[in-house]
Amino acid sequence: MEIYAYAASGFQGALISVEVDIRRGIPAFDIVGLPDGAVRESRERVRVALRRCGYTLPAQHILVNLAPGSLRKEGTGYDLAIALGLLVASGQLEQNEETGALLCIGELLLDGRVLPVPGVLPAAAAALELGVEKFLVPQGNLEEAQSLPRGRASGLHHLQDLPQLFTEPWPEPSVLQFPSRSGMAGEVVDLAEMRGQPILRRMLEIAAAGGHHLLLFGPPGSGKTMACRSLPGLLPPLMAPQSLQATRIWSQAGKLAPEEGLLYRPPFREPHHSASAEGMVGGGASLQPGEVSLAHEGVLFLDEVPEFAPRVLQALREPLGSQRVSLSRAGRSTVYPARFQMVLAMNACPCGNLGKADGSCTCMPHDIRRYWRRLGGALLDRVDLRMPLHPEPAPVLLQGPGECSERIAERVLQCQRMQRERQGNRLNVQLTPQDLNQVATLGEEARFYLGKAVDKLALSSRAVHSCLRVARTIADLDDRPDLVTDDLLEALEYRRFGDKDLSWFVL
Ligand SMILES: [Zn+2]
Repeated sequence: MEIYAYAASGFQGALISVEVDIRRGIPAFDIVGLPDGAVRESRERVRVALRRCGYTLPAQHILVNLAPGSLRKEGTGYDLAIALGLLVASGQLEQNEETGALLCIGELLLDGRVLPVPGVLPAAAAALELGVEKFLVPQGNLEEAQSLPRGRASGLHHLQDLPQLFTEPWPEPSVLQFPSRSGMAGEVVDLAEMRGQPILRRMLEIAAAGGHHLLLFGPPGSGKTMACRSLPGLLPPLMAPQSLQATRIWSQAGKLAPEEGLLYRPPFREPHHSASAEGMVGGGASLQPGEVSLAHEGVLFLDEVPEFAPRVLQALREPLGSQRVSLSRAGRSTVYPARFQMVLAMNACPCGNLGKADGSCTCMPHDIRRYWRRLGGALLDRVDLRMPLHPEPAPVLLQGPGECSERIAERVLQCQRMQRERQGNRLNVQLTPQDLNQVATLGEEARFYLGKAVDKLALSSRAVHSCLRVARTIADLDDRPDLVTDDLLEALEYRRFGDKDLSWFVL
C-alpha cells in the first residue's frame, strides 16, 4: 500500500509520500522531510493514540520519511497517514492487496478519535490528478472528499475502526451532489421586508442579474445595509464547477463546517472594517486565502466602506481587475481565484445625516469630499451601480410587503442562463470591450446621449464600458436581443452618482 498525504502551498499543493521504515536498533521514532513543529509533534499524538487503541509501538528504530523532502510540511493532517503507515509496516494491519495507492489525511486525538482538518478537497483533487482515487479521511470531512466525481472516499471516526475498514471493499465513487448547506454568513434578508424603494429594488435586481458591482449610500435608517444583505437571496445556486472551486478555497481556509460538502449558495462575506490587508486579500506564513477569495463566485460586502483602511481598499484593485490574487512570502507564491461581486454601503457624509429630510447634516462640503475620497477614485470607478438612499416616509413604511426575493431570484436565474448561453458561461459584468462591440451595440440616438454623458459626467472609458454592460443586463431582463436608448439612459442614471459630479448633494 502506498500512502500519500498532502502539503498545501496556498491554492496549489503537492502529494506527499509517507514511508515508514522499522528496523532493529535503539528504540526511536523519527520523522524526516522538513516537518514543522506540528508535524514533529505528530510523533507524540500517534504514539499515545496507537497505545490507547490497543496497538503496539515496536521497540525498534522507526523512521518516517515525508517525501519530497524539499517541501515544507505543516499542520496536524499527517497524523493519520503516519499511524496507518506504522500499523502496516509493523504488520498490525492486514494489508488489503487491492488498496494500492491511498490518500490519507486526518488529525488524531490522544484517545484515537480522528479530527477533521482543513484542505481535504484540494488534497483529493491533487490526488485524482496523479491517479490516486482512494481517500481515507476523517468522518467530518467525508462529504467534502466525496464531492469529486471520481474519488472513492471512506470516512474514519476512530483509529480503532481501521482494521474493520480494510476488510470491506472500498466505497465506489459517489455522485456529485449538493447538500443544502450554504456559504452564506448570517441571515439573508428577504426583499418582502423592504417597504417602498422601487428604484432600489430595480437596481438590486439588475446587480444580481448581471453580477454588477454596487454602492448604496445614505443616512442611517435608509435601508442600505438591509438592501445589501438581501442580494445573496436573489442569486442562483452555484453550478458544479463554480462550487468546486469555491469549496476548495473554503476548505483550504478551514472555513467549511464539519460534515459540510460542496457550497451550494454563492458565498456572502462581510468583513469588519478593521480588516487588515492580509485578511482582505490573503497572505500570512501559510499563504491563506483572504476575504476576496472566500467571496469567490459570491458577494463581498463592505459596510461603512470609508472606515476601512485606505491600504485595504487599495488592495482590492488587483482582484477586481484580474479576478484573482497573487500572494508570495518567503520564496513561496500562489494564486487564488477571486471573482466576486463587490457591494459597498456608506453614509453620504461624515456626520451621516446627509440625505435626511430634516436637513440636520452639519458637514462642510470639503469634509464631504474628503470623506468620499477615502474610497479612492480607482475603486469608485469600478462600481457600476450607485444609488443615494433616503429614508422612506412613514406612510410608505406602513405599506404591505413587497415582492419576495424568491420571485425576483427566478427572473435573475432566467436572465443569467441567457447570458451564459450567449457569451460562453460568463455574466455581463465579465464582458470585455471587444465583447461589448458584439452584444451591446447602440443605435444612433443612444450614441448621441452617451456622447453627451461622457462630456457632462467626464466618464472614463472604463465607465462607458460599465454603462454598456449594465444596459445589456437591463435589456436581458426584458428579454430583448437589441439595446434601446432607454436601456442606456437607465444605466447612465445609475452611474452618475458619486463620480466626479457631486451634484447629488443638492438633490
Ligand atoms: Zn453630514
